Amino acid sequence: MGAPPKLTPEQRSEALLKAAQSRKRRADIKNKIKSGEYTVDTVLELSQSDDAVAKMRVRELLEALSGVGKVRAQSLMEKLGISPTRRIAGLGRHQIKELRKEFMKNSHAVRPGTLLVLSGPGGVGKSTVATQLRKSGDFWVSVSATTRTARNNELHGIDYYFISDEDFDQKIKHNEFLEWAEFAGNRYGTPSSEVEDALARGENVLLEIEIDGAKQVKQHLPQAILVFLEPPSWEELVSRLEGRGTDGAERRAHRLQLAQEELAAASFFDHVIVNDVVERVVAQLVSLAS
Ligand code: 5GP
Repeated sequence: MGAPPKLTPEQRSEALLKAAQSRKRRADIKNKIKSGEYTVDTVLELSQSDDAVAKMRVRELLEALSGVGKVRAQSLMEKLGISPTRRIAGLGRHQIKELRKEFMKNSHAVRPGTLLVLSGPGGVGKSTVATQLRKSGDFWVSVSATTRTARNNELHGIDYYFISDEDFDQKIKHNEFLEWAEFAGNRYGTPSSEVEDALARGENVLLEIEIDGAKQVKQHLPQAILVFLEPPSWEELVSRLEGRGTDGAERRAHRLQLAQEELAAASFFDHVIVNDVVERVVAQLVSLAS
């Protein structure tokens, strides 16, 4: 790279102003994509006449779409041979055509998202997978209500809604759960309205729940995709459960017995995935919802 051009103070402040305006314009476009007001087609059209849009990275455009997070955006770009730093203006004709085709189904009405239910024995690593998917933005991950007390590192409204037995009873009475179940002496339930709203917005939704709950979801919503996460081996599961510093010895023994019963439920599920490498599991789940 050559030496940067020498700018007068006026030229520098003009350049800074222009960069700030472009950033604002791109943020505005991304918000419009997120709200569903702009489709991929609209943005590609705009890029012909609007320099700020033309300079937007393809990755930014894709990640702003509902139902597309970092993982899906990356795999789509790999499929179409688009380099990770490519800007919209740098797209080839074939890539534009393929992008349009990929998102045509979303262009007029919001397509409801896919509901994916991730289940499996306690200790198999469901919550690690769910955390990754929440971070990547590929799924809207439901927050359950539970009567269990919070562990040290857990936050109300983020990990769970920690509620009393009485409140849980009220929620059952008012039909507020899509499913609920008892597990190891506590109750857990999925708030239905939040899940329904996210699906209606076109988000792909992930529920990370135990097996009875997964079966209930399938009864209410047969279109839900049920995924069973299996440990690489029984020994691996035992060592993960034994290594949990958060549970007492009695609770760990109970969880081990439960896990044995839970492993037998795999056949009920639409897909069984072995949790060997988290990134691989994440990519498989994203492709199931695409
Ligand atoms: P933990 O107490 O370790 O956070 O969770 C215990 C079990 O409850 C895990 O298998 C977890 O997947 C499950 N679980 C969490 N939230 C829900 C829920 O809303 N419904 C059901 N049925 N199970 C849940």
